[in-house]
Amino acid sequence: MAIEDDVLVIGGGLAGATAALAAAERDGQVRLVTYKQSTLRHASGLIDVLGYTPDGEGPVVDPFDALAALPDGHPYERVGVEAVREALSFFDDVAGDSYAGGHTDANALVPTHGGTVKPTARYPASTAAGLASDDRDTLLVGFGTLPDFEAPLAAAHLEAAGAPFAARGVTLSFPGIVRDDAKVTRYAHLLDRDDTVATGDGEAGAREALAAAVEPHLEDETRVGFPAILGDEHAAAVRADLADALGVEVFEVPMGPPSLPGIRLEELLYDALEEAGVRTTSGVPVIDFETDDGGDRIDHVVVDRNGTEIPYRAEQYVLATGGLVGKGVRSERERVFEPIFDCHVPHATDRYDWFVDDVFGDHPYARFGLVPDRDLRPLDAGENPEYSNLRAAGAVLGGYDFAAEKSGGGVSLATGYVAGTRAGEEGSE
Ligand SMILES: Cc1cc2nc3c(=O)[nH]c(=O)nc-3n(C[C@H](O)[C@H](O)[C@H](O)COP(=O)(O)OP(=O)(O)OC[C@H]3O[C@@H](n4cnc5c(N)ncnc54)[C@H](O)[C@@H]3O)c2cc1C
Repeated sequence: MAIEDDVLVIGGGLAGATAALAAAERDGQVRLVTYKQSTLRHASGLIDVLGYTPDGEGPVVDPFDALAALPDGHPYERVGVEAVREALSFFDDVAGDSYAGGHTDANALVPTHGGTVKPTARYPASTAAGLASDDRDTLLVGFGTLPDFEAPLAAAHLEAAGAPFAARGVTLSFPGIVRDDAKVTRYAHLLDRDDTVATGDGEAGAREALAAAVEPHLEDETRVGFPAILGDEHAAAVRADLADALGVEVFEVPMGPPSLPGIRLEELLYDALEEAGVRTTSGVPVIDFETDDGGDRIDHVVVDRNGTEIPYRAEQYVLATGGLVGKGVRSERERVFEPIFDCHVPHATDRYDWFVDDVFGDHPYARFGLVPDRDLRPLDAGENPEYSNLRAAGAVLGGYDFAAEKSGGGVSLATGYVAGTRAGEEGSE
């Protein structure tokens, strides 16, 4: 017996979760099937729409000004500027108070752990007090056990980059943590639970102990930035308690992987999926599919559940399996391919043409992926839809270099929203 739904989304990263949420706005039954962890846990939790143009110009001040000039085939060009706006406002509704940035079209400048500044469209509320456009003097606090964030160096980089404020950095010991291999979640949970920890002169709750460690280093600064480890489930309360104790605003600086803001975004999306009634099946890969008799529609896909092959049937399918990182697009010596439906992935036959000599150059492989029509149906080599009921979203799409453009989150949101909405409309007809 096949499992039956109206819409089946394959892949549970930002694109797939958005597609499933958008599809669930219609009346039909939506299912999301996903295999391993998505890139959400590695990403910063920022939603970048467009930080740099494909020609490398930027940072872009207003991404909406730049979207209209993107080349044919770019995912934003496929869905259109209005859909990008609608997708962002859909995200704002889902994220509520947890995210900021929706008050303006302009990019915000968020300091990151290396002391660089990232142009981004939506940012976690926990980073809001740290924006680089704000001229308040800033103290950055790092911890000896978290070497990825060297606060004095990050502060020096911010000043050298022309930030309109004075920045200083100090490196402290984190109360209650001595091991330098502690996971970021350990810091967060200590603060979430406000566990009792040893201090120089006795014991205190983790939040109070941390504030007491920072306080002697505070001079005239009116805001303090910490690496993004300030709580998980109770992050807002942790920040508020630290701010109260220190008498200044407190913010987080997004870190490299694994990333708590990314984990929090994943939790937020999966809570929303549950609330929207989306059935989620995790830890199982889609490995195959069958078409109907005519061959132009997908009849069902095949899921491998611990060696047992189970058919999942739906009216409409959204492929959101990620790019080369998520394994939605794969490469071998001779070819680049999409492993479930074998959708067409244009690439040069000579693999030496996939790269350029300059490591930081414009590598064709960074834009490898499916070519969709304006309805986000992947096209075959003859430019016809591969299957009439298959759409694709996120990093599985080609035509853009998310790392160079700083457009990963925005493309996933916009294409996930459009693919999910259209699949939802047709799936529930
Ligand atoms: C290190 C890193 C940092 C980043 N930082 C940022 C940032 O700061 N800002 C920003 O906007 N973007 C950032 N991005 C980009 C962004 O996080 C995502 O890469 C992008 O949104 C793509 O998401 P996706 O949903 O298309 O794919 P993914 O996140 O790759 O998710 C694909 C999912 O599909 C699943 N899957 C794959 N094959 C199958 C199968 N056969 N069956 C079932 N499931 C399958 C995978 O297991 C995975 O869960 C970053 C990416 C990386 C890798």
